[in-house]
Amino acid sequence: MSLVIDVVDLVSRMVRIPSINPRGRPEPAETPMAEFVADWARAHGMHAELREVRDGRYNVVVTLPGDGPETLLLETHLDTVEVDGMSVPAHEPDVRAGLLYGRGACDAKGPLAVFLAAMADLAAAGPRPYTVVLVGVVDEEHLYRGVVALRGYGLDPVGAIVGEPTSLRLVTAHKGCMRCRITTRGPGGHSSEPWGKTNAIAFAAEVVDHLAGEHAARLDEDVRPLVGPPSLAVTMIEGGSGPNVLPDRAVITIDRRTVAGEDPHEVWAALRAELVRRWPEGLEVAEPHVVDYALQTDPDLPLVREFSGALAAAELDPGVYGVGHGTDASKIALDAVPCVVFGPGSIAQAHMPDEYVPVADLHTARSVLVDVLRRPLSRGGSR
Ligand SMILES: [Zn+2]
Repeated sequence: MSLVIDVVDLVSRMVRIPSINPRGRPEPAETPMAEFVADWARAHGMHAELREVRDGRYNVVVTLPGDGPETLLLETHLDTVEVDGMSVPAHEPDVRAGLLYGRGACDAKGPLAVFLAAMADLAAAGPRPYTVVLVGVVDEEHLYRGVVALRGYGLDPVGAIVGEPTSLRLVTAHKGCMRCRITTRGPGGHSSEPWGKTNAIAFAAEVVDHLAGEHAARLDEDVRPLVGPPSLAVTMIEGGSGPNVLPDRAVITIDRRTVAGEDPHEVWAALRAELVRRWPEGLEVAEPHVVDYALQTDPDLPLVREFSGALAAAELDPGVYGVGHGTDASKIALDAVPCVVFGPGSIAQAHMPDEYVPVADLHTARSVLVDVLRRPLSRGGSR
């Protein structure tokens, strides 16, 4: 393996390039990162191109051709969350006591640098059983526009490894999500004369009671391996206009975590039907404003077995794990692509004021990746 590439230096150079997700603003926030990745890849013998997603924001696609006809996808994101309130310099990387600090060091410039370094190692010394395509996407931290665009690239990969901090564990499952708002209404009026009138706040309290009680108890029974049962939490509530006014409107927001096999839109429709059946008058369930899918990858697929083998060979935990947060993997898996999530650093350090990645994790993740990328990952029957 080539030792010319210093993966710690590579992460540091990426941390110096701000790529804060602009949320709703039309700003090309990730473009300098995309350009850096493309330049670096070309300088190390790989093919690279930028593909515009929108608003001058580009995914970067790096290709390392292999000997076989198949393609393996490496995917991670170029954007980071905000830097306000950070307790370490956001874009001046610093290595102290074996930890590399800075915004994005862990989520997800560490994983991105590890992918690039592993590909460069492979480029320097074969064999390469299949073509490896790395896509660094925009907008993972907001509306997932980068990965949605990637699904249209026609790559048809035999599998995908999504780079996120997993503490070097192999993650094959995570939950999805559906968030929506529920509005209750009453006629309003003077608070001194509440008799016989629907109080929108009291009405909302009844709905909360039902959701947190009877409804949630039903979800608890559907326990899944690695991720547990689906869940529903009421996360926000607002209502009322004055201390002496009967509230005519209250709004609650729910966060429903889904499991594999649950379509979030169908979950929403079923919830709406249930609530409207129970309260035919004065209640509205708005369309979901956030939807994400669950991931559940079959542990018997070649990608998972070979990855476990590489972890075991490195004397790491070869088990498979589930996590609570979402990743781009579930969007890629919608096209029947077997997906796993893997990377250096812990999700506990992602988005933190003192975000860091352990330097040792970067080296270990790189050598595990090189091992995985040299293993045959034939489709082996059904995908
Ligand atoms: Zn991330």
